[in-house]
Amino acid sequence: MADMRIVIVGASGRMGRMLVRAVSQADGVVLAGATERSGSEFVGRDAGELAGVETLGVRIVDDISTCSEADVIIDFTAPVATLSHAAFAASKGMGMVIGTTGFDAQQMAALKHTLAASPVVMAANYSVGVNLALNLIERAAAVLGNDYDAEIFEAHHKHKVDAPSGTALAMGRALAAGREVDLDETAVYAREGITGARKPGSIGFSVVRGGNIVGEHQAMFIADEERIEINHVAADRMVFAKGAVRAAGWLASQSTGWYDMQDVLNLRD
Ligand code: NAD
Repeated sequence: MADMRIVIVGASGRMGRMLVRAVSQADGVVLAGATERSGSEFVGRDAGELAGVETLGVRIVDDISTCSEADVIIDFTAPVATLSHAAFAASKGMGMVIGTTGFDAQQMAALKHTLAASPVVMAANYSVGVNLALNLIERAAAVLGNDYDAEIFEAHHKHKVDAPSGTALAMGRALAAGREVDLDETAVYAREGITGARKPGSIGFSVVRGGNIVGEHQAMFIADEERIEINHVAADRMVFAKGAVRAAGWLASQSTGWYDMQDVLNLRD
């Protein structure tokens, strides 16, 4: 089978550089293009050199339409940019692996509409460990029910612009699914002042931002007599990049449809 040709958009970003490195290190995939927003100082640079690996002969461009000889776009940029990359992918019959977080409901609906006939993997977190944790959280919530107060905590680096993190929200959805309730109706995203006593059945979120924390997530199930914690700590961003490249390779065998890392890792019951 020929190597899968991958375009990395946002190739000079924190994740973009990791993704270029992960593609250059993985078997069965090849970097076919790399982009950045127009005006970026990195346009014209070799993507491999910028990522700290060898020169790959792929220059960063600011016009994605020059990257049409490819199979999959891996996109860890920003919601508005991802929407425009999706339109390009759909028009060329390419697949997409989407890591961008922070879409509002309208942007999410537009993304799903644009990519309705494309093979897509979208995950708030591409680490294998986090996806296993999501699975465990859903099972724990189903067993423990509302007798245990559920709280989700996350911490990230100071540059992160959205909160709670996409992964914390995914944990909330897994928890709500285990309890067979709707997250929108049970989530409490902020507490300040006289909040009143904790509402039974609510799912609370708390957030820390600072320094260079790669990503920490914890689901707590708290009863009067005991507490269960499902905790994940990411030590290096490379874990997300490797997972995304694995997802791209997996996508080669799918013709169309929306998937997440639970599908890629075969964790669905
Ligand atoms: P970053 O700001 O370092 O990188 C984003 C890059 O995208 C920048 O270099 C920016 O110039 C570029 N960009 C913006 N618009 C563009 C366009 N139109 N065309 C091409 N490039 C464009 O951010 P980051 O820390 O790398 O994170 C990026 C996104 O990935 C965020 O939404 C973050 O939450 C998400 N993320 C997801 C996971 C996951 O596992 N799903 C892991 C880490 C980060």
